[in-house]
Amino acid sequence: MPDSSTRVAAEAARRRTFAIISHPDAGKTTLTEKLLLFGGAIQMAGSVKGRKAARHATSDWMALEKERGISVTSSVMQFPYAGRIVNLLDTPGHADFGEDTYRVLTAVDSALMVIDVAKGVEERTIKLMEVCRMRDTPIMTFINKLDREGKEPIDLLDEVESVLGIQCAPVTWPIGMGQRLKGVVHLVSGEVHLYEPGRNFTRQDSTIFASLDDPQVEARIGSDMLAHLRDELELVQGASHAFDAEAYLAGRQTPVFFGSAVNNFGVQPLLDFFVEHAPSPQPHETTTRDVAPAEGELTGFVFKIQANMDPQHRDRVAFMRVCSGHFSAGMKAFHVRTAKEVKLANALTFMASDRELAVEAWPGDVIGIHNHGTISIGDTFTEGEPLAFTGIPNFAPELFRRARLRDPLKLKQLQKGLAQLSEEGATQFFKPMMSNDLILGAVGVLQFDVVAYRLKDEYGVDAAFEPVGVATARWVKCADARKLEEFRDKNAVNLSIDAAGELVYLAPTRINLQLTEERWPDVELRATREHA
Ligand code: GDP
Repeated sequence: MPDSSTRVAAEAARRRTFAIISHPDAGKTTLTEKLLLFGGAIQMAGSVKGRKAARHATSDWMALEKERGISVTSSVMQFPYAGRIVNLLDTPGHADFGEDTYRVLTAVDSALMVIDVAKGVEERTIKLMEVCRMRDTPIMTFINKLDREGKEPIDLLDEVESVLGIQCAPVTWPIGMGQRLKGVVHLVSGEVHLYEPGRNFTRQDSTIFASLDDPQVEARIGSDMLAHLRDELELVQGASHAFDAEAYLAGRQTPVFFGSAVNNFGVQPLLDFFVEHAPSPQPHETTTRDVAPAEGELTGFVFKIQANMDPQHRDRVAFMRVCSGHFSAGMKAFHVRTAKEVKLANALTFMASDRELAVEAWPGDVIGIHNHGTISIGDTFTEGEPLAFTGIPNFAPELFRRARLRDPLKLKQLQKGLAQLSEEGATQFFKPMMSNDLILGAVGVLQFDVVAYRLKDEYGVDAAFEPVGVATARWVKCADARKLEEFRDKNAVNLSIDAAGELVYLAPTRINLQLTEERWPDVELRATREHA
């Protein structure tokens, strides 16, 4: 039964679904902890990392992450704040995982960019920003580590504007920095939030004065600093932009906040502003029509698959972003790609305290669906309408290796492992039509190590990856069945089947690809496979 759309609209309107983007070490994990603290989800800061480790305690998998200093697991955290429900989708941290991150960003309505005050705009931030720009994702900015010396705030705004090409609208402004950090001024409310080392650690509010004119402010920060601050603010207000909700929502302007995540300072003004101004769930495009969040029937798409979250159960969890309607535990949904009705039993929600069985979910929420490999990234679920959400591409990998098995008796496990791991989306698996090779494609070199490690750890298979003569991959599409048949016959040596059963042309060289494209004008060789 479809839900009343007023209820759905109301629930959608209070959702805020976002991701944090940053260069490694800027403070994403620390800020996440503090945000959860405000959501009342965890008692003590410092437990995000602990929680991650605990979840994988039965597996060595985290050892690889630690060794490499990277985080390849990502998760969803939900917490209530000020009458809203905030969904924070974690993005994998390492540069090699760009594709995963890309897909997470298709499932959010806005993003929060964290910048280290000393380092400014770093390379990974630039890349992530490009991805956000493709979809005009609204972005707020948090400039972190104000308790340390860093670049001049004015210079930082300049850097963001020139390097990232987005207008800055400072919402808070720092009073001093490093040893001299005294607080921030809220440029919209006029409030002064004092920085008191040691006191901002916990959830309690910092000392707040209504305005700079409060005589106590002068007493606390000193008359020299106050005079300097007033001059600076005049300059800033002349040189920067005032907050403009429309420009922010269009992705042209970023509101900027200053603070120190580890000291829990400047985080609350950010969160308050975020829940008030960040967009609620937006309409999503499908191949046939746009789906509005307030529609009564459940729709959603899968943006991530994680295998073996619980090594004992060998389960796979498909992460589905709800786009419209209402999910309730045990309901049936239509899996569009397979045209089958499936019961969504045992779906998970992601309250920050733990993974929990989902009772209900609304637009903007993410649910985890257990499955045994029947669900793929990009799949759409509805209550019967054959929709297909667009915009979740599978990129052509740029690096290829042939899997070499040390124990030939383990071929079955190897195939199974490669197929399952590639469903998570970071690697792609190809079976050539004319040989018994198993070829793995990836966007980054590190992926091969990760796969080798996980094959051993989770499937008990000892495999190595060796170079293979493949330059690039193209998904083959052709409306004319006879032409396609002919293409298959003539090019069988270079054709493979991917894990989803799609036909793929593995070109030995770029020149070969070019010649093939010229020779077969009616056959489309696509660099991405749109999940549909
Ligand atoms: P991530 O890689 O972006 O998740 O960064 P982390 O949150 O792990 O932080 C990287 C390092 O910076 C850690 O050692 C943090 O303790 C430290 N850090 C985070 N926020 C602050 C801050 O406000 N001030 C200072 N001085 N250090 C911070």
